Amino acid sequence: MIDLHSHTTASDGSLTPTELIHLAKNVGLSAVAVTDHDTVGGLREASDEAARTGIEFVPGIEISVDFKPGQFHLLGFFIDRDHGEFNDRLQALQDNRVNRNIVMARKLASLGLPITLDDIVAEAGGDQVGRPHMAKALVKKGIVETTQEAFDRFLADGAAAHVPKMKLEPAAAIEMVHLAGGVAILAHPKFLRISDEGDLATVLAGFKDAGLDGIEAYYSQHNSPETDTYLRLARRFNFLISAGSDYHGVTKPHVHLGRIYQNEAGDPEILATLKRFRLQRTARAA
Ligand code: AMP
Ligand code: FE
Ligand code: FE
Ligand code: ZN
Repeated sequence: MIDLHSHTTASDGSLTPTELIHLAKNVGLSAVAVTDHDTVGGLREASDEAARTGIEFVPGIEISVDFKPGQFHLLGFFIDRDHGEFNDRLQALQDNRVNRNIVMARKLASLGLPITLDDIVAEAGGDQVGRPHMAKALVKKGIVETTQEAFDRFLADGAAAHVPKMKLEPAAAIEMVHLAGGVAILAHPKFLRISDEGDLATVLAGFKDAGLDGIEAYYSQHNSPETDTYLRLARRFNFLISAGSDYHGVTKPHVHLGRIYQNEAGDPEILATLKRFRLQRTARAA
């Protein structure tokens, strides 16, 4: 069984890549993808450990894309983590994030809150720092009781200390994944926040034109009717399908690695189909 969506300390997960691979093995997965937000920083360690552990590893990424009303997160599978131009474009996103953290820390301080960038960085497990770490720092300082309160009062989109993150247009993000040899999959379609199936079909048709290869129909937070809807739309638009939990560890405690749909992991045939598709495309390009 497989799980094609997980995070490590390279972004906002709580397990190191090595620990994540061991957990994948222990819960009985045959294959796992690491898909950290906007970084390939965990892929080498995860890949090496997977080879030692005897589990199939899919090098992945999850890129934040500009979209309203909800979130468009683009998964890329089988990406070449060493691709130069791909890494340059990731670096631009990361540079923007670093600057944004500085500006948001300044905004929090100017609201009179006793918190510094150092306090925030200290909450991050790996290289990538973001709003969840600001929320944790605000809790630790006793400024708020919960991370949700931190978001609601200061950090949520449009809240007092919020600064928007640089995001790519859908076509640019999809192109970037293809550039690195990857397969481009819309993560958790539910979070696009388009509940009307007709409206969703219109949006997906646009993504298809932009080069999207597939959608994550099986997702830990999709209920059964939602899953059916996404499978139906995938058939209609000839999208590949994917299956992922979005495991983050203690930062999303309700999500468990390998529990995607009806408490089960994904069917290995899903990964086999993704691999066939990728091989065919590579062969066509050659
Ligand atoms: P960042 O990439 O720094 O913008 O942080 C994004 C993360 O912050 C998301 O993955 C969520 O975990 C969290 N987040 C964003 N908005 C909210 C919100 N309104 N309430 C709670 N958590 C949020
Ligand atoms: Fe995350
Ligand atoms: Fe996501
Ligand atoms: Zn994710």
